[in-house]
Amino acid sequence: MKYANGDGKGQPSSPDPSEEKASPAQTGPIARPSAQDTQNFRMVRSVRRHAASGLNRHQPRKVGCFHCDGEVEVSYAAKLASCPKCGEEINLNDYELNKPLHEDIFTRGNVTINKLGALTGESLVCHNLKAYGEVTALVHATGDVMIRSNARLPGGLRCQKLLIGRDARVIVEGDVFASEMDVDGEITADAFHCQGKTRIDEHGAINGPLQTRAVAMENGGALNGALQIVSAAAPSDPAKEA
Ligand SMILES: [Zn+2]
Repeated sequence: MKYANGDGKGQPSSPDPSEEKASPAQTGPIARPSAQDTQNFRMVRSVRRHAASGLNRHQPRKVGCFHCDGEVEVSYAAKLASCPKCGEEINLNDYELNKPLHEDIFTRGNVTINKLGALTGESLVCHNLKAYGEVTALVHATGDVMIRSNARLPGGLRCQKLLIGRDARVIVEGDVFASEMDVDGEITADAFHCQGKTRIDEHGAINGPLQTRAVAMENGGALNGALQIVSAAAPSDPAKEA
């Protein structure tokens, strides 16, 4: 399958940016999805990018470089940016997976893994993530993460708001860093670091030591690990280290 030829960058029908230029990223520690892999993705219009958080949906936003600490402001509809500091391209595409994929994803756009989709890779780096299908990868999100499936996250999980759905079973081999957590499924990690409030719902279980600013637990909810309430900001800013 081939995408229709667009007029170039920025067009909704344009192919993945990696098809247009030789990718300098290939030589670095981080490789963007290759042309071959993008055949497995269905591109979605960036108008969907706001879906998970609903915040500032049409406002320009700042995105970070994958290679250095450079940042650039982009419009909500942009598909590609380049780092003002090192010049590397910053992928802004949204991805929606409808079948299993073995690949890493690096984008400052949003990723949706549908029920028939699944992602197995080393790294999933994105803005917002919605997972209805299985995920096996380290997850670094600069936005919110919602998991409603089985997931195994070797290397850890970083995000803003974390939502674990009722039927989710999530095993994090590493630490969880989030600004807020709402858990109605089961999640296990080496440790949880929550900068804000943690909510454990009726079907929720947190397995592992929890450091949070506040915790609310409903009847039926479980916390299997030491609880530490911290008043100051948590040890790490997930947005900066994704
Ligand atoms: Zn850079």
